Amino acid sequence: MKNADLQKRKESAIARGQGNMAPLYVDRALNAEIWDVEGKRHIDFGAGIAVVNTGHNHPKVKAAVQAQLERFTHTCVMVSPYESAVALAEKLNAAAPGNTPKKSIFVTTGAEAVENCVKIARAYTGRPGIIAFNGGFHGRTNMTMGLTGKVNPYKIGFGPFPSDIYHVPFPNEYLGITEEQALADLQMRFTCDIEPSRVAAIIIEPVQGEGGFYPASASFLQALRKLCDDHGILLILDEIQAGFARTGTMFCHEQAGIEADLMTAAKGIAGGFPLAAVVGKADIMDAPIPGGLGGTYGGSPVGCAAGLAVFEAIEEEKLCDRAKQIGAHFAEHLTALQAEYPQIIGDVRHAGAMIAVEFVQDGDVNKPYPELAKKLSAKAGENGLILLSCGIRGNVIRFLPALTIETTLIDEGMEIFKRCFKEL
Ligand code: PLP
Repeated sequence: MKNADLQKRKESAIARGQGNMAPLYVDRALNAEIWDVEGKRHIDFGAGIAVVNTGHNHPKVKAAVQAQLERFTHTCVMVSPYESAVALAEKLNAAAPGNTPKKSIFVTTGAEAVENCVKIARAYTGRPGIIAFNGGFHGRTNMTMGLTGKVNPYKIGFGPFPSDIYHVPFPNEYLGITEEQALADLQMRFTCDIEPSRVAAIIIEPVQGEGGFYPASASFLQALRKLCDDHGILLILDEIQAGFARTGTMFCHEQAGIEADLMTAAKGIAGGFPLAAVVGKADIMDAPIPGGLGGTYGGSPVGCAAGLAVFEAIEEEKLCDRAKQIGAHFAEHLTALQAEYPQIIGDVRHAGAMIAVEFVQDGDVNKPYPELAKKLSAKAGENGLILLSCGIRGNVIRFLPALTIETTLIDEGMEIFKRCFKEL
């Protein structure tokens, strides 16, 4: 089998809306390496978009899944539940930042987790409105698309979107929006088109992911927490991309010292098995009536078995600490490159192992260079390095390696990155 033949078959069999970044077809994968159907090895700096934080085919996750497959594959948590779902919920409740007692529910995808946060927030507050941020991303379902602030490509052609959603500025120095301005804008909106007593929740990513790896500062998150408390609004932290040790703590908003009312968890939760959760303050989580939440596959036994193994691996292998080391190591490589090419590399930033490099023209942050990010990820792909791009301006390359990646492999990957960059 050839990658090019499979890409041709893919293009005629799978609609273009479900596009692929790298035209390589996977045969097998181990930790942070992938071998394609032609036997070529690729270093994986994407981890399936921050999903395999514990690496491809982690032995613990694999063994837990294999053992579960021997016992049963599905009964449905809403029909006849099993201990692993309870145990995983207990783990999530204990790991969620803050001391208020927590409860969880399981669903299957990140977008579903966000949808369920909205349902729970509305059931608890009896209010319709949801405030979300420009540049944010929360999923591709109807409600989550509505909440998503990054228009291209997620919203093009898909309107109308649900009502009672308001978008406000996210502090972003590249767009010239300071934290003070973002807060002032939100307060001003409370005096014109957003009636705070009709707002159920504010939803925010602790680090905007698809939007370009822009972290929300601790002080901004703390100010939002206070604003929510002042107006009886719930604060939802979307930890889908930033969670599960990725940024150096189990969940990112822990670093701001705040407690969310509701939090989403997905991606890294189960080492590659489709599982997601909402974790929140117990009284809020219990607002919807029995049967109002969940879904056929939510909390599948295979996903829960994997999830418990992921928790163990993160703890045993100290992956929170490793995420910080990985971030610092990538940043060292990238800042050295930036010093050589200050006209093209506008910024290097990282929150743990969510690492980003921003390409600009003439050293000017107001002149994004998306063409370079696109060409570079394509060229790296041809040279055995899987890279992902992102950003509201499309000019960011993000590095999201498995947190189990060896330092030697990071260095090997970064050598490919630098070589491709210099050859462009
Ligand atoms: N929220 C955030 C912050 C995400 O990064 C994503 C996916 O990238 C989602 C929600 C949607 O998750 P899913 O693709 O599993 O529906």
